[in-house]
Amino acid sequence: MSISYANRRDALSLLAGAGALPLAGACANAQTPADAASPPAGTEPSAVGKPMPGGVELPGSPPPRRAKDSVGFAIVGLGGYALNQMMPSFHGARRSHVAALVSGNPEKRARVAAAYGVSDDACFDYNSFDEMTSDDRIDAIYIVLPSGLHANYVERAFAAGKHVLCEKPMALTSADCERMISASRKANRKLMIAYRCHFEPHNLLAMELMRDKAVGDIRLVRANEQYVMGPTNPDENWRANRSLAGYGPMEDYGIYGLQSALYLTGEMPTAIAAQMMRPPGDPRFAEIASSVGTLMKFPSGAMAELFTSYDARPSNRGVVHGTTGTLEMDPATGYGGHEYILRTTDQRKLEAGDPSVQFAAQFDHFADAIRDGVEIRTPGEMGLRDVRLMEAIFHSALSDSLVRLNPDGTMKP
Ligand code: NAD
Repeated sequence: MSISYANRRDALSLLAGAGALPLAGACANAQTPADAASPPAGTEPSAVGKPMPGGVELPGSPPPRRAKDSVGFAIVGLGGYALNQMMPSFHGARRSHVAALVSGNPEKRARVAAAYGVSDDACFDYNSFDEMTSDDRIDAIYIVLPSGLHANYVERAFAAGKHVLCEKPMALTSADCERMISASRKANRKLMIAYRCHFEPHNLLAMELMRDKAVGDIRLVRANEQYVMGPTNPDENWRANRSLAGYGPMEDYGIYGLQSALYLTGEMPTAIAAQMMRPPGDPRFAEIASSVGTLMKFPSGAMAELFTSYDARPSNRGVVHGTTGTLEMDPATGYGGHEYILRTTDQRKLEAGDPSVQFAAQFDHFADAIRDGVEIRTPGEMGLRDVRLMEAIFHSALSDSLVRLNPDGTMKP
């Protein structure tokens, strides 16, 4: 079973009318599918230019191009994550460089182009996106737009014959993910999802330790990702806008806990039970959930408890409880500052390496996949799997029921 976009809209209408969840009981309060929080029929989100985000420090000199066969990336969407985290990492990249920019804000794009050494004729806007087809300087397109725009731009990038690195979440529905994967196959071009934790030394060490049974058999993975969203509303902030963000915190931030539960146990869940919260009357949560809590069961008997929120004091923490030890991770999946403590008969702080390598490592891994055929660690199929699991989470919360899963993450009828 998968939730189609149309059904998803209905489900979200119910969420919008619900207030505090469990939703099943509260759904009776929902007005109609056309209530205030339902997007008008036929409207799909479109890409628009935005001003320079806060806190951006543009580099004093462009990143060097280190390898002869360096892969040229077009960066699509010059927002906070692109400009503060991913683009500065090109300075440390070994086989990738910025080849082009796509933005709807000409003034911002010109400043970024000057700082990164991108010429005028390699600067595009959303209307000229499809012209990149014939630009041989561009090998790959990095989509770092609001999540509800990923599917459209990924499909168009494949139509232009380019490889695609797409930010998480891959898309807002599994149907979109499936179309993106088909487009990649049809174009015979590669698709990678930018799951940076698969390139971050502490997370990689934790995966290895769990495989080696450093805490014995895993009984519970607990993960939370949360912060308090400032005053806003769906018109001014895409993260509060349903057509761009889906249900909100789960797709944006909770996806890290979901991912870590899977890569730490090495298993797919067989059952999911979830609940969502939405305080009534708060413009931040007019269209999205404020919090999502999930319980998952794995074939080995291990469980995962996941919590994510835009309305709780900031925390990004994970704990694995095993039969002979625990692994504490705080922050677990951040940009830096990872503190991982393994407790068994004694306690040990894990020294894994510099977390900041996670950003450039994604560009270089994708470059290796394109040039040498290296197998992609985080392919589109992984993005699809996670979106299916999130659909199961939402289905469980909206129907107030336990959802059983097939091994590929689809819901059992
Ligand atoms: P942001 O709001 O800072 O930037 C989004 C950019 O997209 C804007 O600057 C604008 O240039 C462009 N844009 C085009 N159409 C838009 C529209 N209709 N509404 C708003 N902006 C529009 O967001 P961000 O934090 O940079 O997130 C962008 C993507 O990166 C999202 O998919 C998000 O999930 C992902 N992300 C990933 C990580 C990570 O750690 N991997 C961290 C943050 C964000």
